[in-house]
Amino acid sequence: MRIGYGWDSHEFKSGIPLKLGGIQVPHHSGLAGHSDGDVLLHALTDALLGAVAAGDIGTHFPPGDPQWKGADSGRFVEAALKRVRDAGYTIANMDSTLILQEPKISAHAAKIQARLAELLQISQSAVGVKAKTPEGMGTEKAAIAHVVVLLTRKAKRGERALRVAEAVPQPVVDEIVEKTLQSSIITPRRKVRLTSSAGRRQKS
Ligand code: MG
Repeated sequence: MRIGYGWDSHEFKSGIPLKLGGIQVPHHSGLAGHSDGDVLLHALTDALLGAVAAGDIGTHFPPGDPQWKGADSGRFVEAALKRVRDAGYTIANMDSTLILQEPKISAHAAKIQARLAELLQISQSAVGVKAKTPEGMGTEKAAIAHVVVLLTRKAKRGERALRVAEAVPQPVVDEIVEKTLQSSIITPRRKVRLTSSAGRRQKS
């Protein structure tokens, strides 16, 4: 099991689209950045990369690189998710908190949650989206995002097969083996007898 944490902030700039959690939120200002400025997706990318010790968003997508100018930050999340999977992990859940003066996020939280679930290919019930105003912090000109993710190790092929085998009741296993032996055109050189312990065979 692994935990990942990401944090990011971007400054508001008037007259540009506001992207938050992969959706466009109607507002008079957006978040300035080399990419689309999606502070929530940047924090999520860092949380995913951090969980598998794979560096940070700046390492993989340098802000000076022209190919990321105006880029959809969903691409960063998808690339980080691939790193997570390649490392042998799957996402159990994520949680997030946005801190911004305006706009109010409550009207858009469900849509953001749905988009995050889609990007991460997990259930919406595993995606937390929360927002607060920056009481006394003096960060009214910026949006801040905090994200945590929990990863669990993906079962390997052999482990999955073993779990399935263990879940099959012994009488059913006995019957399958008997039928297979009876229907086989190859006569077994040695007769096998099943013991009561799951999945074990013993020579007679
Ligand atoms: Mg950023």
